Amino acid sequence: MLTVDQLKDLKGKRVLVRVDFNVPLKDGTIRDDNRIVAALPTIKKLTSMGAKVVLMSHLGKIKHKEAPEVVEQQKKKNDMKVVVARLSELLGQPVTFCPDLTGKDFHYFVDTLENGGVLLCQNTRYEKGEEKNDPLLAKEWASAVDVFVMDAFGSAHRAHASTYGVPELLKAEGKPVACGYLVEKEIASLMRCVDVHPEDRPYVAILGGFKVSDKIKVIDSLLRKCDKILIGGAMAYTFAKAQGKNIGTSPVENDQLDYARKCLEEANGRIILPLDSVATNGFENWTEKIVTTDQNIPEGFEGMDIGPKTIELFKKEIGSAKMIFWNGPMGVFEQKDFQAGTIAICEAIRALHGKAFSVCGGGDSAAAVKEFGYKDDFSHVSTGGGASLEMIENDGHLPGVDILK
Ligand code: ADP
Ligand code: MG
Repeated sequence: MLTVDQLKDLKGKRVLVRVDFNVPLKDGTIRDDNRIVAALPTIKKLTSMGAKVVLMSHLGKIKHKEAPEVVEQQKKKNDMKVVVARLSELLGQPVTFCPDLTGKDFHYFVDTLENGGVLLCQNTRYEKGEEKNDPLLAKEWASAVDVFVMDAFGSAHRAHASTYGVPELLKAEGKPVACGYLVEKEIASLMRCVDVHPEDRPYVAILGGFKVSDKIKVIDSLLRKCDKILIGGAMAYTFAKAQGKNIGTSPVENDQLDYARKCLEEANGRIILPLDSVATNGFENWTEKIVTTDQNIPEGFEGMDIGPKTIELFKKEIGSAKMIFWNGPMGVFEQKDFQAGTIAICEAIRALHGKAFSVCGGGDSAAAVKEFGYKDDFSHVSTGGGASLEMIENDGHLPGVDILK
């Protein structure tokens, strides 16, 4: 796979960069510009080489099956124009906005861009054909450019026109397709968790979050690769119930009990479950909070976080690891009373002082790591929630990455 650094003679070339500018918005302004910042190195490299840089990204959801007035509303809410000013400020150069994604005007905007200039196109999902990977749309976009660079890791698990159709066509025409710096780093970090080297053992996975059923393929894959799997979060209660424990009113997936038993058997002692829980007599308007003495939860109580004994156990396991992959918070970290488990995992990783390779992947887990101020303690915090999990599930394969090869 080509990387940006291997692209030569870009002066005057039209380079389409698929970025991930799917930024969180609140009342029409950008709430967090992390994703824009993450794309800057690739954009700056290309402009410094004199390329005409054409940026495309999706933003939010647009459901083309809804009534026309609903689609219009969704478009208004997810207008890419909101990104122009911040991008220009961060890049330190003007950014032209192209409101069209097809037709004469679109091509005019691209062709009249000066060398080293940056053009940001409208939200790709304004086009119905984007998510369907419509061949005509892909053809129109591919025909407008000379080179394709993929730097939207968070969209690499989707085979859409802008992530798959365009590089597929350009490749067939013998034109260069490459990955950007962000995608390059994501792949390198996640591949290390997929193709495990002996010096990275013991390899410990930490899994949490809400549902076992969301993570079946991840669990299966990690069971094949890891030395230990620590399980916390709501999903731990399905495992506890499968072992015949009382779990009170904790969240449980009764249709996954057999699967949980199968995992425990296959793991042969490598799955480590919580020893205790912080539990309450309700999810939101609770009035009583207890710490259980063991893996059982009293009637009328639900588990909200891992307890202190579990924290000690998990810290010990993390402390002896050489490599860590973490997905899923240990508790209801959105509520202050149940953040301790998730923060303890962050602390344990900080305490490694970089002596182990640590990766956090997953939308909520990565958000928790950033919110609690531990991002720099990890070797890598993935920018792609779903994409990072699919990378683990599919042994390192993602459509938007494979097509670059
Ligand atoms: P990620 O996005 O990192 O993959 P998930 O989406 O699977 O993680 O899970 C995150 C959610 O799991 C959070 O909203 C958190 O509140 C919830 N969660 C974790 N532990 C519990 C629990 N014990 N009870 C209810 N919800 C929980
Ligand atoms: Mg999530």
